[in-house]
Amino acid sequence: MNLSSLSFFHSLRADRKNKQFAVIGLGRFGRAVCGTLHHAGHEVLAIDTDMCKVDQALSDRIVTHARQLDSTQPAALREAGIFEQDTVIVAIGNYVQESIITTLNVKEGGVRHVVAKASSEIHEKLLKKVGADHVVFPEHEMGYTLARSLTKPGILERFDLDPEHSIVELIIPENFGGKTIAELQLRARYRLNLLAFSHNGKFIINPDPHTRLLTGTAIVVIGSNKDIDQLPI
Ligand code: ATP
Repeated sequence: MNLSSLSFFHSLRADRKNKQFAVIGLGRFGRAVCGTLHHAGHEVLAIDTDMCKVDQALSDRIVTHARQLDSTQPAALREAGIFEQDTVIVAIGNYVQESIITTLNVKEGGVRHVVAKASSEIHEKLLKKVGADHVVFPEHEMGYTLARSLTKPGILERFDLDPEHSIVELIIPENFGGKTIAELQLRARYRLNLLAFSHNGKFIINPDPHTRLLTGTAIVVIGSNKDIDQLPI
């Protein structure tokens, strides 16, 4: 997530009664979205052209309702009640034309929050042009995350604040072990701020500068990506 997603999630949060979801497309991605929303107690209406996928979703109990229809047909979407949903997820990645037409239909039908799955950069651009409020590109995002964790295995988690700044959780570098936070001088030497350190499976926030860090535990720092890259990890 980054700043460009902020306004979308802000508007989602503002709509506190937001409990009704529709998922169009029951591929692996769509099914995962359905199952997670449904298990979290939300109403989920799923749509697919393939009757077998509709039946499967119902028998697996990952949806509240499921309908077989072609989402490129606005009349069919209206009749199924899609336009009354708070949030619609267009989970059609491999059929670009269908995905674009569906997203356009759903936005024109008045749905406030439309999330769409892209399968390429051009697909992502087109989805934004037809009005998708938030576009995800899971293959790209996972590839990016995997490559970053392979090149920096000491970084356990990374939260991108914007393209240049992050909050990262990292394993304490070997030569940091046994030193106190004050001795490390992270701010002066790396321009990084330490937010927390791990102790007995928990994170201690706002740590005392006299705390001695143990090798094998983790710390959380905030700073620019350039400065984070200078850490000996
Ligand atoms: P994966 O399965 O790898 O997650 P995906 O999420 O990109 O891939 P797709 O292969 O794009 O999934 O298929 C999504 C689903 O969308 C399929 O089950 C397909 O039947 C359905 N679908 C395609 N076109 C339409 C349409 N016009 N209306 C409704 N459902 C559709």
